[in-house]
Amino acid sequence: MIIRDRYAPSPTGLQHIGGIRTALFNYLFARSAGGKFILRLEDTDRTRFDESYVQNLYDTFSWLGIKWDEGPDCGGDFSPYIQSERTSLYKKYAQELLDKGQAYYCFCSAQRIEEVRQQREAAHSSETGYDRLCRNIDPQSAEKRAAEGEACTIRLKIPLDETTLFHDYLLGDIEWKNSDVNPDPVLLKSDGFPTYHLANVVDDHLMEVSHVLRAQEWLSSTPLHVIMYRAFGWTPPEFCHLPMVMGSDGKKLSKRHGATSIDEFRKQGYLPSALINYVALLGASYEEGKEIYTLDELTQRFTLEKLNKAPAVFDYKKLEWYNGQYIRMMSDDDLADLCLPYAKDANLFGAKEPTPQQRKNFVDAMPLVKERLVFLSEAPEKIAYLFNEPEIPEAEEFIPKKCDLAKTIEILRIGKEIVRTLAEAPDDEQAENFIKVQAEKREIKLGDLMMPLRVAITGTRVSPPLFGSLRILGAECSVERVERALDRLVKADKAGFLT
Ligand code: GLU
Repeated sequence: MIIRDRYAPSPTGLQHIGGIRTALFNYLFARSAGGKFILRLEDTDRTRFDESYVQNLYDTFSWLGIKWDEGPDCGGDFSPYIQSERTSLYKKYAQELLDKGQAYYCFCSAQRIEEVRQQREAAHSSETGYDRLCRNIDPQSAEKRAAEGEACTIRLKIPLDETTLFHDYLLGDIEWKNSDVNPDPVLLKSDGFPTYHLANVVDDHLMEVSHVLRAQEWLSSTPLHVIMYRAFGWTPPEFCHLPMVMGSDGKKLSKRHGATSIDEFRKQGYLPSALINYVALLGASYEEGKEIYTLDELTQRFTLEKLNKAPAVFDYKKLEWYNGQYIRMMSDDDLADLCLPYAKDANLFGAKEPTPQQRKNFVDAMPLVKERLVFLSEAPEKIAYLFNEPEIPEAEEFIPKKCDLAKTIEILRIGKEIVRTLAEAPDDEQAENFIKVQAEKREIKLGDLMMPLRVAITGTRVSPPLFGSLRILGAECSVERVERALDRLVKADKAGFLT
């Protein structure tokens, strides 16, 4: 059998974790089996549709680097892949069910349906949904009324005394009494648009979808879909309802737990590879002890047996850990490319684009922050001092423990003497050897010599590594910064600071 599966989002919101998890599992399943992964836009809910959500879908997946084999943008043998462009097909298939006596016209107004609902509520009735009033209208007179233009919908005529059985890959055999299925749901609306159920079943059949991997929230629609496949005389696809994704409190993951839209993760500075890796493990287990997987590795390993039945818990901290791991695995050039948009947004370069020298310094700065970054967006702030002179902090910021201002000035004077050599040292090791010798020679603790120098150069006590920073800034700039700081301390001393 050729495996064909699909991601079938409704463009009624931004792409979120649950959606991309479904897409990713479908992608991995199809690719791992040499099958085809399809994108189908289920845009039949015109009231909630928005073009910007379609754009968001494309942007999200191009950012993630996940491609479909067939879809609205790349075409395929079963075009069009946008449901709003397939309405004539749905009408044809609704008519087929009418002709077979498996569906009927319903002339009930929205108002009547609402009244029925209210009456039942007042009577504390356990019955829900449509009361099947039009089910018994003689088909010929119904046909005539519809032909004369009376507003109507087409409803599925569910065979009431039967039960429906289907198999779910994870959940096993599932049996529903038809009388418990949503009573005679609408297939075709009065505006000629199909409902989700009709369009979904018709398209999965016509597009030869062999496997439906979708979120568990759709499980209750599946008996209905199976009834429809039977009504058409079609074989249903295999179903696999994916384990739910929960927040840490055991409730369905939602905005209350934190970011859920992929846009937010992207803006926060997550890497697509980290997100893919983490999301692919939400509800699936691969090898014991191995946590890092590229998309290719996941594709090679994915099988439905890897899926878990139990709900997955979305752990934001774990996702952060993945992001850090992926940042550390990147080359300096690639990391700089990814951090650059954040640096531009933060106006790091004083102009929209960096000069070639700034660009080079930016790449050279990457090893200084790589070990410390959790998000790409943190990079500009951490290395801002390399591009703009930092403000000189108050004098007390410079003073090492157990020292006073006079001693600190003395230390920084030594710093001024040695900073050129440090900045010109070809690597960290040589810079370190040199400063150690100097500290020893002058009988100052290494830490006490480094600290005021660090504050003078970076503007803070806690900063990326000093020697690498000096190399990027160069000797002239480094000497200037130390001189500036020294001036400040001398002035503070004259003004009677901490005497
Ligand atoms: N359009 C549905 C959704 O938005 C598709 C559900 C399914 O995969 O059948 O998720």
